[in-house]
Amino acid sequence: MQGSARLPLARLGMIILAAALLLSAAGMLSARQALAAGSEIETKAEKKDLIRWVDFNVPCEAMKKAIALDIMTHDKEIKLNFIELLAYLAARNGNNWKGYRDKQLDDLAQKLLDGASMSELTKDLKHYNYYLEAYTAVLSGFVGEYEIEVPDAEGGGKHWERKYGIKVFSPIAKNFPYSHCDDFGNKRSYGFSRIHLGNDLMGQTGTPIIAVEGGIIEAMGWNQYGGWRIGIRSFDKKRYYYYAHLRKNFPFRKDLKVGSVVQSGDVIGYMGHTGYSRKENVNNIKTPHLHFGMQLIFDESQKECNNEIWIDVYQIVRLLDNKRSEVRKDPETKDYYRVYGFRDLSSFRPLKDQPLKENMWDNPIGINPGVKP
Ligand SMILES: [Zn+2]
Repeated sequence: MQGSARLPLARLGMIILAAALLLSAAGMLSARQALAAGSEIETKAEKKDLIRWVDFNVPCEAMKKAIALDIMTHDKEIKLNFIELLAYLAARNGNNWKGYRDKQLDDLAQKLLDGASMSELTKDLKHYNYYLEAYTAVLSGFVGEYEIEVPDAEGGGKHWERKYGIKVFSPIAKNFPYSHCDDFGNKRSYGFSRIHLGNDLMGQTGTPIIAVEGGIIEAMGWNQYGGWRIGIRSFDKKRYYYYAHLRKNFPFRKDLKVGSVVQSGDVIGYMGHTGYSRKENVNNIKTPHLHFGMQLIFDESQKECNNEIWIDVYQIVRLLDNKRSEVRKDPETKDYYRVYGFRDLSSFRPLKDQPLKENMWDNPIGINPGVKP
C-alpha cells in the first residue's frame, strides 16, 4: 500500500533485466527472452504498490475546516495544504474520524505556522504517504484558482472575478431540492448481488444535473444498470464521475457528446428514473433520483476491472450542498444552461489528444451558445 516499496522492486527488476541481458550476451537466453523477463518483473513491481482500495470517510466538517485553513493561508508565506492536513489526521486517527473536532486541525495548523514541517510531524506516521496519495486522488480537483462570473452590484449585468477556493459544484442545480442519506455499501439485488457504490440523491424528475468537476465526457448513453448515464473523467484522469438514471426521452443536455469538454458547474443532464433494463429508455427504477458515484483511477488498468475503486461520496455531496450552480431554462430548446460562466485556472490542462475550441475562454462551454451573455 505504501509508496516506499516502489524503488527497490523497480531496481530489482533492472538488476534481473541486466542479469538476463548478460546471460543473453553469453548465448544462454535470447535477447527477446531477456527483455521479456525484465519487463515482466518491472510490471509486477509497478503494480504491487498501486493503491487497491480507499475508504473515504472524512467528515464534511473536517474537509470544511481544512479547506478554510488552506484558503486563509494561500497568499501567506506558510501555506497550509488541506489535503496534507486531512492525510495527517487520518494517519493519526487510523482513519477513525468518530472523535473529530476542529481543534485537532487548529492545533496542527498552529504547529505548521510556528515553523514545524510536515515531514517532521509525519516521520513516525506509517500511513501518512498512503493517505496523502489516496486523498490527493479524491480531492486534488476541489480547491484552487478560478474565475467566475458574479452579478454586478447594480443593474442586471455580471462580471468576471478571480478567486481561490472550492471550485467544484454540487451535482444538483441551485434552487432544486433533494434529499439523501449515506447509502454507500447497501445491498442491491437487481441483476446480481452487489453493493451500492455511490450516493442516491432523491428529487424531482427533470432536476438539472451538474458536472461536479470539469473534465471530458467519456461515456454517454444507455447502460443496463444505470439507465441513461453520463461518465466524466477529470482532466488529470484520476477521477471518473458517474451520473445515472437520467430522464426518459430527454436525459442529457442536447449539445453534449462523448469527447465534449465540460467545466465544473455545467448542466449535463436531468434527473429521472431510467435503468434496470436491457432495453433502452425504460423507467424501471421506482423513485426518481440521481445516482452519483466517483471512481478513483491510479492506473488505467483499474478503470474497468473486477477491483474498481469507488468511494463513498456522501460527505462530499454534503460539503458541496451550498455550492450550487444557478441555471436557466432556454424556452426554445427546453435545455437548462448555467447562468454564471466559470474558468478553472489551476488544474485545467488542455490535453494533446483533445483539441479544444480556440474561443473556449471567451465563450466558456456551458453557457447557452444561442444567448449573448
Ligand atoms: Zn444509486
